[in-house]
Amino acid sequence: MPTQRKARILALANQKGGVAKTTSVASLGAAFAEAGRRVLLVDLDPQACLTFSLGVDPDTVEASVHDVLVGGRDLTEVLHRCDDGVDLVPSSIELAGAEAVLLGRPAREYVLQTALEPVRRDYDVILLDCSPSLGVLTLNALTAAQGVVVPMPCEMLGHRGVGQLLDTVTDVRRILNRRLRVLGILPTLYDGRSTHAREVLEDVGERYGVPVLSPPIPRTVRFAEAPAVGRSILATSRSSKGARAYREVAAGMLEQL
Ligand code: ADP
Ligand code: MG
Repeated sequence: MPTQRKARILALANQKGGVAKTTSVASLGAAFAEAGRRVLLVDLDPQACLTFSLGVDPDTVEASVHDVLVGGRDLTEVLHRCDDGVDLVPSSIELAGAEAVLLGRPAREYVLQTALEPVRRDYDVILLDCSPSLGVLTLNALTAAQGVVVPMPCEMLGHRGVGQLLDTVTDVRRILNRRLRVLGILPTLYDGRSTHAREVLEDVGERYGVPVLSPPIPRTVRFAEAPAVGRSILATSRSSKGARAYREVAAGMLEQL
């Protein structure tokens, strides 16, 4: 039997909340699945928005990423198959305590990488949905990943924090994970009618010296409706401009991977 390639692991990170990390993980995951890829999504946020938005109730979930990271449970035992054609490692509020527990452990930044290793041949792409912090959980994501995507709203103050995140990536690359590279900034919540948004979009790549993924994801109300039914916008409004933008970004990313 030919040896299968290992999944590419990508972290979506930005320590700011509300920048569309979770929406992008759900939408890109669904787009990769539509393109025939085997996809695993990992919810690393104690607020469990990704888990909820994929139709899994974080309050009643039997086991979660917390049990994997803190309890040493096998990742395959906590997987959920979701309607979007992706597998999910759910989160739960318990994860809020994981940072403190992991801080006392040796090699605490490598726990996620170790847990993912046995399933890497079962998937083509693994997406990590980070919490809005630069704590141990996000360091675990950046240590496990080969690539990081930075969702960033194209609006006033939208790029606050991007510099700090990129500094963290530089540190991680130096100390924990030499293979990590920045795939790019993913412009989100984009309003093409706004001059200011267009200026932010034009300036951001040069300002930080990293690629800017294209096209920008338009701001549309469709995104607010999707999570309520446990599906991503790619299923709920298949041909909306938001869904099309995520498909295009996903196709560009697949070329790079
Ligand atoms: P994060 O994970 O970075 O905190 P979310 O993905 O949860 O961000 O998005 C924050 C809010 O913005 C959510 O209510 C989501 O529905 C909304 N949102 C995300 N992307 C868009 C978009 N392109 N247009 C409109 N609303 C969006
Ligand atoms: Mg989120």
